[in-house]
Amino acid sequence: MTVQPASHDPHAFIAGLPKAELHVHHVGSASPRIVSELAARHPDSKVPTDPEALVDYFTFTDFAHFIQVYLSVVDLIRTPEDVRLLTYEIARDMARQQVRYAELTLTPFSSTRRGIDERAFMEAIEDARKSAEADFGTVQRWCFDIPGEAGLESAEETARLATDDRLRPEGLVSFGLGGPETGVPRPQFKPYFDRAIAAGLHSVPHAGETTGPETVWDALTELRAERVGHGTSSARDPRLLAHLAEHGIALEVCPTSNIATRAVRTLDEHPLQAFVEAGVLVTINSDDPPMFGTDLNSEYAVAARLLDLDERGLAELAKNAVRASFLDEAGKRRIADEIDAYTARWLAS
Ligand SMILES: [Zn+2]
Repeated sequence: MTVQPASHDPHAFIAGLPKAELHVHHVGSASPRIVSELAARHPDSKVPTDPEALVDYFTFTDFAHFIQVYLSVVDLIRTPEDVRLLTYEIARDMARQQVRYAELTLTPFSSTRRGIDERAFMEAIEDARKSAEADFGTVQRWCFDIPGEAGLESAEETARLATDDRLRPEGLVSFGLGGPETGVPRPQFKPYFDRAIAAGLHSVPHAGETTGPETVWDALTELRAERVGHGTSSARDPRLLAHLAEHGIALEVCPTSNIATRAVRTLDEHPLQAFVEAGVLVTINSDDPPMFGTDLNSEYAVAARLLDLDERGLAELAKNAVRASFLDEAGKRRIADEIDAYTARWLAS
């Protein structure tokens, strides 16, 4: 083991580094603090309200247990006010990590199916977004994703919510697809992505997390992906890596999530370095951070180790996420300048 000089300990630098996050889920961002507030609102749920007991509750024995806990948190989101509280408090947690801009993936189908009025859902997220931006300075934008396992009915419903001018929230920028990949072929979702793209939304499906590179190809050719969620198995196909690099299609890499879901066996086997060597634009993300015992800062620390990055390298990584975001050019410039100024100050001190 080599001992790094103290000045190369990346944690303090990362903690203050302005960042953008592009792959993080709404319910999956409910921290023990937020879950405790939600559980207190719904005492009939079996979820503990004591934050310390919640830390144990969030310690997963296996993947099935993770799903069980995840669904028990989904069950706490019952009213528009729950949606608002969750969304607003996520922004507070992001601001603490110096996240300036986040594209948060929401699955509106899970809420509307559970009886939350669709218009009230949209109003709740928009109200939370505007209040959080004013109070914390973190800008949130939405990706509405299809829960693939829920079938084409959920795809139809998600496309409708994302494209109906009377419902579609101002903060919505993209359209996604999540859930298991095995047995849920991507091409069947093409008509829904076509509708979303025609309505001006960007295409950002998950692909190649638990299946091979052919799923990433499907996401590119059938769903016209502009970024790919995970894309982990792209590393097995040099032609695909070259295609991603040539077209500037970013991968939303979530290292700790990949270990937790066993998409990758160990961090040392993670293909992040291979992506960078192939010239692919990589962004670092946290996916479902409290559920995987991580946060965005920890993911940057993991990336610093895997890619052997110093402060300048970390600043470039943070700028990759800004570059790959759906912010307008002025918004991108503003955060990139802030990253540069922070890094220059840090290195001069
Ligand atoms: Zn995800």
